[in-house]
Amino acid sequence: STFVGASFGGIAELYAQIQKAIGATERVFELLDESPEKINPDYKGAQEKIKGNVTFKNVAFSYPTRQEVQVLKDVNFTAEFGQKIAIVGPSGAGKSTISSLLLRFYDITSGEITVDGKNIYDYDLENLRGNMSIVPQDVILFGGTIKENIAYGKPDATDEEIMQAAKQANAFNFVDGFPEKFETLVGERGVKLSGGQRQRIAIARALLKNPSILILDEATSSLDSESEKLVQEALEVLMDGRTSIIIAHRLSTIRNADKILVLDNGKISEEGTHQELINLENGIYKNLSNLQFSNS
Ligand code: ADP
Ligand code: MG
Repeated sequence: STFVGASFGGIAELYAQIQKAIGATERVFELLDESPEKINPDYKGAQEKIKGNVTFKNVAFSYPTRQEVQVLKDVNFTAEFGQKIAIVGPSGAGKSTISSLLLRFYDITSGEITVDGKNIYDYDLENLRGNMSIVPQDVILFGGTIKENIAYGKPDATDEEIMQAAKQANAFNFVDGFPEKFETLVGERGVKLSGGQRQRIAIARALLKNPSILILDEATSSLDSESEKLVQEALEVLMDGRTSIIIAHRLSTIRNADKILVLDNGKISEEGTHQELINLENGIYKNLSNLQFSNS
């Protein structure tokens, strides 16, 4: 793998290289999310457990390569420990950017992001990321066995723990169906898994990692409906007892969120429960909702 032998200090450079090579930012974020143990063999994950209260206060941000465009202008929200906060809004609104700022892939321009009341830049980076997991739209697994891919979230996991996590993630049955079961190789030289199967592996990994903060970035948007049901079920298990930030294109998946934020033009323009937002006259959410539910 590309990551073996690279130093943790070289992460920015590595990031730039991968970004050039792939050109798809979400994939890069996800690779980075997986990478600390490989980049730094001494990685210990979360040394200090955080609770998971997240706040964005007057956050503004421009990408370093496109400073003329303010992607986020003034973003304010609070996600309390254990809550499900959904972020919706048109493509390009800055939803994924919010998750990369929380993961500290970029530095904000102004404002403040806190976790449990402490500025995220005052945390040890590994410790901060050790408390977070992201399930993106397109999960990339590394070349290795299914077992290794799941255990990535917790390098010292026992076989029993790995199997339990796979069961909870609705992954056990398909894995058990392969002749080599958990020793099955995935990636270029192994079996080809479907998008939904890869997501369930990522969910099993996250279950083992046991993060306080979970980010789902359009995690079910590219799945067929059968796969979506299995993934959605596994996600419900995963979200239980954690702070979840759910970025969604399809509104049906976020109806029961504690709070829905509508991101528009770099700001949160509407905020409330599904019921509150569909009652807003001329609201963006109401309009989106009418469009999506009348088409389905
Ligand atoms: P969303 O997830 O809501 O679709 P994004 O957060 O991915 O939106 O993107 C917000 C804006 O930032 C878009 O205009 C996008 O083109 C731009 N953008 C995203 N990633 C980068 C990057 N790495 N460098 C420069 N611009 C970017
Ligand atoms: Mg996005």
